[in-house]
Amino acid sequence: MSPPARGTALDGVGLTRTYRTHSGTVAAVRGVDLEVREGEALGVVGPSGSGKSTLLSLLLGMERPDRGEVLFNGVPLTGRQRIRRARQAVQYIPQDPASSLDPRRSVERQLREPLRRFRVPGDHLRLVQDALEQVGLGAEHLARHAHELSGGQAQRVAIARALVTGPRILLADEAVSGLDLPLRNQVLELLRDQHVRAGLGLLFISHDLTAVRSLCDRALVLDRGQVVEEGPTDRLLETPRHPTTQELVDAVPRLPV
Ligand code: ADP
Ligand code: MG
Repeated sequence: MSPPARGTALDGVGLTRTYRTHSGTVAAVRGVDLEVREGEALGVVGPSGSGKSTLLSLLLGMERPDRGEVLFNGVPLTGRQRIRRARQAVQYIPQDPASSLDPRRSVERQLREPLRRFRVPGDHLRLVQDALEQVGLGAEHLARHAHELSGGQAQRVAIARALVTGPRILLADEAVSGLDLPLRNQVLELLRDQHVRAGLGLLFISHDLTAVRSLCDRALVLDRGQVVEEGPTDRLLETPRHPTTQELVDAVPRLPV
């Protein structure tokens, strides 16, 4: 498989996803448009249940939209082969990444797995070591298992697993939520470094508007599946227009400076 082309782009057009449950239907995402490109950082903020994780599943081709489409480099993201090819270039950090690690497998096996699954060419051990180095972990971590890692190390391994295939766009779902302050700042710094230095495109999903501002110039505000406001993150924080944005601003933790 050839490496992802420069200028990798992911677009969501009119994305809509409804879930049917025993208690009725939930319109999780309703008519959302967005674009994220290599080298750019876009934030998505919204309260719990506003559709952020569903949006991410749609963009990754893990869920199919009821209406609308996802375009990967301008071509609809459908079919197993095309989704697999896209996933080498568009990776994600799942919500609660540390618990997404398999406790029975070594760090090395977990980092090799996406290389095998997405049929990435090259020396896999070397790629695994490079990815670990990018998150500041040495080769001594290769043989470790999840229970032998601290919370911060596990978070880094989860990020390394997302970076190992050499993606051009990274989708991060609540990547710093629930982390203590030093670890939160370390993870934000790591993502900023990948974005600024390596030109990685970011879609950074969070309910924490200050974390979003630290990485993204622009953001969308989701409420009940719809985009209710969008604009520069500075402006959203300083003069929120929609009540949902106002609530997110009011909820911003007053962090010590
Ligand atoms: P967020 O990530 O912003 O918290 P989600 O995308 O997880 O929001 O959920 C949006 C809405 O869709 C919620 O009401 C949630 O309960 C519902 N939902 C999400 N996934 C499913 C599913 N697999 N089945 C049924 N309802 C779901
Ligand atoms: Mg979520």
